[in-house]
Amino acid sequence: MITMINSLEGKVAVVTGGSRGIGAGIVQRFAQLGAKVVFSYRSSEAEAQRIVDAIGSDQVIAIRSDASQMDDAQELVKRAVEAYGSIDILINNAGITKDNLMLRMTEDQWDDVINTNLKSVFNMTKSVLRTMLKQRSGSIINMGSVVGVFGNAGQANYAASKAGIIGFSKSIAKEVGSRGIRCNVVTPGFIRTEMTDALDEKTRDAYVSNIPLKDFGSVEDIAEICAFLGADGSRYITGQVISVCGGLNI
Ligand code: NDP
Repeated sequence: MITMINSLEGKVAVVTGGSRGIGAGIVQRFAQLGAKVVFSYRSSEAEAQRIVDAIGSDQVIAIRSDASQMDDAQELVKRAVEAYGSIDILINNAGITKDNLMLRMTEDQWDDVINTNLKSVFNMTKSVLRTMLKQRSGSIINMGSVVGVFGNAGQANYAASKAGIIGFSKSIAKEVGSRGIRCNVVTPGFIRTEMTDALDEKTRDAYVSNIPLKDFGSVEDIAEICAFLGADGSRYITGQVISVCGGLNI
């Protein structure tokens, strides 16, 4: 008999920032694989509603919720548990950039990026942990970036937030591994989304020339690794940083 170890049938996932880009790709792939999904967005209500309409409101719920705010994170988790009874997978995907060279970077640019990208991971993980501890199972997937490993001029705030996610995730993996809860980081390279569409052609070509696979990745490439890390097929993988970057990091 073939067992579908990478099916998400019967699982409940919470995804932050699921209205656009990588998060939207994850929501769609998870629903396709049978998961029930609750996703958050900060402002793009129309995009979020389009995703709910396309998948069906019996399988996916969109909630406006600011991941950088602890109260919002707690409310999001509460509503997910009320709707579906458990949370098996948490994907901390919400993220922003506010690039500037260090001499010009404002305190607000620093705070906004750290709060949205890193404090959100603390907020959501803390909020979801009690449920996962009770279940004695769970998979937390945090969206890092290759920039968090290598650094990038003009992105000290973003790189610090993404590097912070790696230390946080390894600590959580050690703290709750004995309770059946896993925590991993996915570090995308350049992925085609609105975030990278903002690059001019010359900059994009320069980046592509440094990628061994000579292309940007797609949101589907990231959704697929998240599906694997959420499913039981990855039950022995925790505390890892998994790059999906076309070989940019070698
Ligand atoms: P997008 O800008 O396309 O989408 C970001 C998503 O996050 C949106 O759904 C947005 O909601 C949501 N969001 C932003 N701030 C908050 C908040 N405070 N609370 C809740 N939701 C929020 O980004 P990408 O899809 O490109 O990036 C997704 C993740 O992947 C980020 O963590 C990013 O750092 C990471 N990443 C992306 C790479 C790329 O090449 N694109 C490369 C490496 C990492 P709304 O629509 O309402 O604004």
